[in-house]
Amino acid sequence: MSLSLGGEEMSKKEIDDRFKKFGTVSFTAVTKVNDFIDHLEKGKVMGTRCKDCGMVFFPPRADCYKCLSSNMEWFEVKGKAKLVSYSKLQYAPVGFEGDLPYSIAVLDYGDFKLFGRIASDVPEEEIQPGMEMITVTNKLPNGQLNYVFKKA
Ligand SMILES: [Zn+2]
Repeated sequence: MSLSLGGEEMSKKEIDDRFKKFGTVSFTAVTKVNDFIDHLEKGKVMGTRCKDCGMVFFPPRADCYKCLSSNMEWFEVKGKAKLVSYSKLQYAPVGFEGDLPYSIAVLDYGDFKLFGRIASDVPEEEIQPGMEMITVTNKLPNGQLNYVFKKA
């Protein structure tokens, strides 16, 4: 194949090939990571770890962006983490307005950080950076699943 960038036919062909590749990659990635929902249904919050370089991903990814490997394994997010920071939301994205007020937070698990929401039953006056928290699965009133942070 010529490396010439000229020629309309050549450009069209390259674009077609790229879309084909994009579709395949994205389909594979979504299918693999959908296991995340199955794990949530079983009460487990899971991330992925690259078996080749050790990078840890949460939310889970099917492919490692550091070493480009797809050799991933699941691991369970468990144990205590430290609250790094949190923020009480007065405004929420569309679809979450009914949940207000709620706090979003970042927990530090050492190997990785986890972004999420603090459970509504944690009293606001008890929330402070450095406190120990755990991550648990949570079923929403509409049947959807997510995870929340609670006091350890
Ligand atoms: Zn890797």
